Amino acid sequence: MEEPHSIENHLNPELLKKEIRTAADRTASTKTKNLEDRIRRSCINVLFLILTCHAVFGEIKNGYGNIRATKESLRILRALLFEDVNINPAKRRKIQETIENFENHISYYDLTENLLTQFKSIAPELYAQVDTITDRLGRHVNVHVQFVTAGSTEIQAEGTTYVNQVPNDIDACQSEYGEFTLAVKVWIVPRALQVLAHELGHVRYIVPNFANYLKYFKNHYYDISSSNCVGHNPDDPSGHTATQFAKSYQKNYSKFLKNSIRRLQDPPTLLARIRKESKII
Ligand SMILES: [Zn+2]
Repeated sequence: MEEPHSIENHLNPELLKKEIRTAADRTASTKTKNLEDRIRRSCINVLFLILTCHAVFGEIKNGYGNIRATKESLRILRALLFEDVNINPAKRRKIQETIENFENHISYYDLTENLLTQFKSIAPELYAQVDTITDRLGRHVNVHVQFVTAGSTEIQAEGTTYVNQVPNDIDACQSEYGEFTLAVKVWIVPRALQVLAHELGHVRYIVPNFANYLKYFKNHYYDISSSNCVGHNPDDPSGHTATQFAKSYQKNYSKFLKNSIRRLQDPPTLLARIRKESKII
């Protein structure tokens, strides 16, 4: 199987500065009563609240976070629209928009959850290698994965891994999710799981070799915005591991298809089904 051609391993600090949610937000989001009060007061000033448990052990995580608060917000807003007949049309429209945003967010969360489970079933050994990954000093690192709309990432690549260095700790990774984390975004395309395998291959190499690899990266890739194959110089060990992971996934997938009676829907079809079902609930 050919290597995915438009995949990028990206270490741009600027992209990592956005949307690091504060611990205060996360704590507040667990307080459903407060949340409910806020929603009822302002109706549309409801943000996507992402809860992140502080994990003792590293693991692969759903990058959309914990969506309990989002689901609760959605329930309240739907009830508000249904019960309150006195809401003016403009406000009703805004509430409807917020509901659609929440439904969308939950759909992407569910898709990511579903695809991570599929990946684990198809290639458990590859999954485990990243699920238990540690840096050079043995510290656990979380890998946050999001499946996103094709074309929606700043870098136009089917898969992108985002990682930066923690100040004063050359071996430590960080991303928008905080210290000891990486972020992986994969477009929702039919071969999304193969793309994920490729990105997890980058992660597998980079995390335990981070300080040295970052030196290599800075010496070999000067303009990461103008290329969509960063991470794949002929002598780049991260690129080699990514290619191996994708090949290994493909072998596992072929074996899975022979042995399983389960039919897997491709990711875009799966998302459409999840969206349809979320409207019914
Ligand atoms: Zn790559």
